[in-house]
Amino acid sequence: MTALSSPEQRFRDIEENYKEIEENIERAAVRSGRSRGDIRFMAVTKTVEPIFINHALSLGIDLIGENKVQELLSKLEYLPPQTEKHLIGHLQSNKVRKVADVVSCIQSVDSLSVAAEISRQMQQREKTMDVLLEVNIGAEASKTGFDAAALPEAGAQIAGLPGIRVRGVMAVPPICESESLVRGYFEKARRLYEDLKAGLSGEETVDTLSIGMSSDYVPAILEGATLVRVGSALFGPRRY
Ligand SMILES: *Cc1c(COP(=O)(O)O)cnc(C)c1O
Repeated sequence: MTALSSPEQRFRDIEENYKEIEENIERAAVRSGRSRGDIRFMAVTKTVEPIFINHALSLGIDLIGENKVQELLSKLEYLPPQTEKHLIGHLQSNKVRKVADVVSCIQSVDSLSVAAEISRQMQQREKTMDVLLEVNIGAEASKTGFDAAALPEAGAQIAGLPGIRVRGVMAVPPICESESLVRGYFEKARRLYEDLKAGLSGEETVDTLSIGMSSDYVPAILEGATLVRVGSALFGPRRY
């Protein structure tokens, strides 16, 4: 049996983890010819209780990501309203309504139908939602996301919908045994992102490549990530 640490111990762990992650991000940014300010850090808060999320926010983190609509909604009252929140998990069309006023970006747009529903809900509100197009970069049957080949066409169609602003691409690569393999997937994601940017230039602000998680945010930054999504490396292993 693993002993559960006290809240105080976990606060300290989060502080140390964050310091180390920040140093790694800064170094990787410089190695990729950029600076720390070019890379956005997201704390992925799935399964994490609000007391620990709020501790992370007190350290200067200003963006959180949740996978599930219900979990996000259940935590809302305990989190600062001004903290930026993104949805990063598969979204069913019938739940778009519930997040339309809560998140500023849906990173996991994986079909034309969910994009159409986001457009419909945002038009009703006379607002715009930022979205990223999720690409199934390893063509895995177990994952949602657009096929790489379908991305340019889908991007053009979704960018044409009122109430939606296409900001870029999000991807989760397959579990890889080596860093060079994972970098190959990230490179592919970056090419798709660059193509989308070129295809939509003039119409949209395409500026976000969301790749990299706890185990691979450094190689992701070296391949051009502008946003990294980190959960367990910050908060510790998830307890379901
Ligand atoms: C859970 C999750 C993350 C964070 O995963 P860690 O490996 O804990 O950093 C990032 N992105 C998505 C889409 C996730 O579901």
